[in-house]
Amino acid sequence: MPQNVIIEPFRVHTVEAIAMPDREERENALQRANYNLFGLRADEVIIDLLTDSGTGAMSTKQWAGMMVGDETYAGSRSFFRFEGVVQDLTGFSEIIPTHQGRAAEKILFSVLAHEGDVVPSNTHFDTTRANIEYQQAEARDLVRPEGLDPAFIAPFKGDIDLDALRTTLADDTQNVPFVMCTVTNNSGGGQPVSMANLRGIRALCDEFDVPFILDACRFAENAWFIKIREDGYADKTPKEIAREMFSLADGCTVSAKKDGLANIGGFLAVNDPEIAAQCRNLLILTEGFPTYGGLAGYDLEAVAQGLIEVLDENYLNYRIRSVEYLGEKVLAAGVPIVQPTGGHAVYIDAKALLPHIPPHEYPAQALAVELYREGGVRGVEIGTLMFGVPQDDGPDLPSAMELVRLAIPRRMYTQSHIDYVAEVVIGVAERAADISGYRIVEQAPWLRHFTMKLEPLA
Ligand SMILES: *Cc1c(COP(=O)(O)O)cnc(C)c1O
Repeated sequence: MPQNVIIEPFRVHTVEAIAMPDREERENALQRANYNLFGLRADEVIIDLLTDSGTGAMSTKQWAGMMVGDETYAGSRSFFRFEGVVQDLTGFSEIIPTHQGRAAEKILFSVLAHEGDVVPSNTHFDTTRANIEYQQAEARDLVRPEGLDPAFIAPFKGDIDLDALRTTLADDTQNVPFVMCTVTNNSGGGQPVSMANLRGIRALCDEFDVPFILDACRFAENAWFIKIREDGYADKTPKEIAREMFSLADGCTVSAKKDGLANIGGFLAVNDPEIAAQCRNLLILTEGFPTYGGLAGYDLEAVAQGLIEVLDENYLNYRIRSVEYLGEKVLAAGVPIVQPTGGHAVYIDAKALLPHIPPHEYPAQALAVELYREGGVRGVEIGTLMFGVPQDDGPDLPSAMELVRLAIPRRMYTQSHIDYVAEVVIGVAERAADISGYRIVEQAPWLRHFTMKLEPLA
């Protein structure tokens, strides 16, 4: 079998037409959305790389599973299938379904985190950070310093800085209710975390007697990187590696909209029955009975099947390679990106591409708007709009990096779609010097990037 071209390990079974708005329609859409790409409608977007969350294509087996979904309120068959698959994958005993990842976070943090606590992680995802801050606790990012340098090439840039973690744990003026680690590190460029680092976190958590919770939304992509990059894992299956990752933690929060290959769903899993009991009480209050947790029985079937399919080696090889392919193309044209490419997205370094726009004029947002204007490609800003700290009397405190994330939905776009995206990115990069910044005209106190309104400065 030829080895140079890695083909999509599936063929198209159902098609969905793509809208093709022209330039004037895109310009009007931008104005109506107040230059916030979350305000665009699906039919205004040509290639949608806003997120890989819940946007992927399901398989024939997942759709078939939905037909046999059991909608029994309590004790649904579909729950027991889901529970069995998640227990087999994670090794955790207490499996709590939720409607998506943030619901799992909200419930777990309500039980474990309190005012004044510090929760360290490599990099907290935006919903994780917001849910911790909502408990009046501090979400502290301790990714290794190389993880903040987009052009620095290393195999595991998602690793936590173990010395910094030790310092946080040893400081007895603060309480650390648990340590988190995000695999792969979404907000830090989708960079993987090594097994050695996870073992190091486990050892520190044992030493300081603190639980370790994995934010495992992209566990399969992380497992694949361990297989191809870390010594001693080349001959292990992705499932064996994933199980080893989970075995180092005391629990996990997961959005099934990523490596669950489903359009909705998530779960919380722990070993401690007492924590699980408290979480289930909250679950009943906000999500539903513990055997469906805010999901339909058919969703549980789709997630269970997705968690099996995502560990297929042909799928993971294609998945990671197709992201790398887009990265290679734009990099070859001189576009600065986070290197090496991560699991689910290409992250363009807007700070390097648009050095004339200061952080408080949101260079990554300006770039994201241009990609849409140029070719109807929707990405998302991961920079000061998302993570900057608003100040009453001056510009926002900037985030560490100014990135535009082009997240690739799973099993959805073909190679020619990706070639088109590369063409759009390269076209915009060629006129980078003419792009100007933005100002915020309206914003919410939490997760402001979802709903804020902006205005161009020039
Ligand atoms: C998507 C995501 C979440 C939140 O999951 P939702 O299903 O969107 O609520 C949390 N952490 C990481 C790393 C994610 O990628």
